[in-house]
Amino acid sequence: MTSGGDSPGMNACIRAVVRTGLYNGLEVYGIRRGYEGMIDGDFFKMESYHVSNIIQRGGTILKTARSQRFMTPEGRKTAFENLKQHGIEGFVAIGGDGTFRGATVFEKEFGITCVGVAGTIDNDLFGTDFTLGFDTAINTAIDAIDKIRDTAMSHNRMFFVEVMGRDAGFIALSTGIAGGAEAIVIPETETNIDYLISTLERGWLRQKSSAIVIVAEGDERGGAFEIAKLVKEKFDHYDTRVSVLGHIQRGGNPTVRDRILGSRLGMAAVEGLIEGRKNVMAGQINDEIVFTPFANATKHHMQINKQMLQLVEILAL
Ligand code: ATP
Repeated sequence: MTSGGDSPGMNACIRAVVRTGLYNGLEVYGIRRGYEGMIDGDFFKMESYHVSNIIQRGGTILKTARSQRFMTPEGRKTAFENLKQHGIEGFVAIGGDGTFRGATVFEKEFGITCVGVAGTIDNDLFGTDFTLGFDTAINTAIDAIDKIRDTAMSHNRMFFVEVMGRDAGFIALSTGIAGGAEAIVIPETETNIDYLISTLERGWLRQKSSAIVIVAEGDERGGAFEIAKLVKEKFDHYDTRVSVLGHIQRGGNPTVRDRILGSRLGMAAVEGLIEGRKNVMAGQINDEIVFTPFANATKHHMQINKQMLQLVEILAL
């Protein structure tokens, strides 16, 4: 099943889960709409052809959802009864840390085992170098940022571009470096508006023809509109514009990296279940498959690389 927010590469992972399961002689069921579908008994037996022609598609053929009912003991009991009825002993959950927390509670109550795959564009889970969908999301964002740069340069404008990242600045950091941004604004570091203005002002005085500030949506000072307003208040001679990239970052055909990552992690998750692993997330670190306990694979444990932060500053000279 896929659960929580969708991300590109989930289909590649579903395909790998189904085919690795069948290859190992297992019966495989798809659960639609995450824990909601588990409670509603929205299951279907999956054969190899169900996952034909999906490796290149964004989104998730199994649909995804958040489930309030799964947060309640009654909801989880119904989910367990549905699984039991189908003879399902373990499942692969492609989702984020909330999904893994739910699976941990569920295993404790009913003994149904779960191996997880981190499917989120935010890249903020500990236990894998990259989460599924991150690479596609940053490539989608950089494509948009390059286009914004063209128009910004033509008009000598300053753009505040908001990228996704409610709690994490990884998308902003990567796209900031790759897009040649003058500055990035992320939740992991305290945002000093005066310092931001002085950075931009320095560039302006040197007759830079444009400026781009990448803002992670979850910055503590607000999103791109708020940051732009704060800058504009002090320097109203700036011709500023705001662009919020939004959900386009979650869609689109997965990159080669995400297709391969999804395929590898899907295979690893099934092999993990067969080996009797439970409450662990399959991840890839230094090109090796590793299993990390759900308890450790939570948000906020992944540290921002300080050298990368410094790089933004140096390259904005
Ligand atoms: P994303 O990173 O995209 O937000 P996520 O997996 O973290 O993905 P959540 O909405 O946090 O998304 O969690 C998915 C679902 O997991 C929730 O809707 C809920 O059904 C279930 N869940 C989360 N936490 C718990 C919990 N403590 N107990 C039971 N179920 C939970």
